[in-house]
Amino acid sequence: MYDVVVVGGGPSGATAAEDLARSGHKVAMIDRDGRIKPCGGAIPPRLIADFDIPDSQIIAKINTARMISPTGREVDIPIENGFVGMVDRKDFDPFLRDSAISAGAIGLTGTYRRITRDGDKTFVTYRDKASGEEVTIETRLIIGADGARSNVARDEVPGGEKINYVIAYHEIIEAPEATDQYDPLRCDVVYDGAISPDFYGWVFPHGKSCSVGMGTGIDGVDLKQATADLRAASGLTDCKTLRKEGAPIPLRPMDRWDNGKDVVLAGDAAGVVAPSSGEGIYYAMLGGRVAATAAAACLKTGRVKDLKLARKLFMSEHKSVFKVLGAMQNAYYRSDERRERFVSLCHDVDVQRLTFEAYMNKKLVAARPLAHLKIGIKNLAHLTGLVSETRV
Ligand SMILES: Cc1cc2nc3c(=O)[nH]c(=O)nc-3n(C[C@H](O)[C@H](O)[C@H](O)COP(=O)(O)OP(=O)(O)OC[C@H]3O[C@@H](n4cnc5c(N)ncnc54)[C@H](O)[C@@H]3O)c2cc1C
Repeated sequence: MYDVVVVGGGPSGATAAEDLARSGHKVAMIDRDGRIKPCGGAIPPRLIADFDIPDSQIIAKINTARMISPTGREVDIPIENGFVGMVDRKDFDPFLRDSAISAGAIGLTGTYRRITRDGDKTFVTYRDKASGEEVTIETRLIIGADGARSNVARDEVPGGEKINYVIAYHEIIEAPEATDQYDPLRCDVVYDGAISPDFYGWVFPHGKSCSVGMGTGIDGVDLKQATADLRAASGLTDCKTLRKEGAPIPLRPMDRWDNGKDVVLAGDAAGVVAPSSGEGIYYAMLGGRVAATAAAACLKTGRVKDLKLARKLFMSEHKSVFKVLGAMQNAYYRSDERRERFVSLCHDVDVQRLTFEAYMNKKLVAARPLAHLKIGIKNLAHLTGLVSETRV
């Protein structure tokens, strides 16, 4: 009998399993394995520090973010005091799973099938990958960390069956030599309705390879054509394509992460990805950590309501950032005119500092109230069209 069965061994599940194993719990982590998670792989310094990610996992250290507007205007934002790290999910996820297993978690390879109960006993059934047989294990609690379109969320948690998504698609290509257009230390973020009518496109260098892609929540958009257009606009058409893959990105944290009984969700399964950026790895790992904390508290006290701690702890730290990013997405991702204004706003050094502080260290800095005020006024002026985008 396990204390906790974690379903999913991505960033959220592996973190939860490792934390629980380290605190002496008997934990199993079920992952179906065999598919590389489609992902741009960008991670902030806060993640590297909080989760002790070794340098060997960082395949590129990005020092500039280039914002590109619909009319092709470029604003380079230098990344001060650090870098944005790039990981390759092909190696990063197995590294996280191995860390959990080294800490004492039991790694099981197979596909989650169902949760059943008999009196006060709870069971998880999965199909074992090696034998093809269904295996049932008993557990006290379950962490659902099986990613976007989570089966555990759908089966167990109210609202889990109707999460909204953006579909993101990218191609991993062989990185070209550095050119005028391609800098292996620079991320390009493309705000252009022709590439994505409601999100953005990106070029993220990964050392020897590079992720080029876009996302959209609008049906009927041809993601492959948009990515081909982005590759053409970025001078990357002729690079060899190594992988083509797409996956959903959830749009909004669910209102409930637990089932009031024995299940708590983490990461994409709980709908937790930052609005505007679609950044999910850091929030998934933190989600795994708070789910582990909540599960440990519940096991200790026997109080089911302690499972609610996961969402509470997460939101107490990140609600404001999510609100600001959500408002930004609503305001600026609607039309090319708005996108043009958004890129203009990025010229402002205070905007750059605040945005990057929020991304790099996951904090809205309160140190310069006047800068906030100035940005607030500029924001308003841009949205109401009081200033033209060329004057900033
Ligand atoms: C194209 C794209 C680009 C992205 N780029 C970035 C980026 O640059 N930076 C960033 O921070 N975020 C990015 N994201 C978001 C990020 O990838 C996710 O938010 C993050 O992976 C969520 O982690 P997770 O552990 O919750 O879920 P996942 O990473 O999806 O892990 C879920 C795990 O569960 C396993 N699993 C699923 N179903 C079952 C089952 N039935 N049985 C057993 N195991 C199962 C899977 O094998 C997987 O290992 C991107 C997403 C997409 C789609």
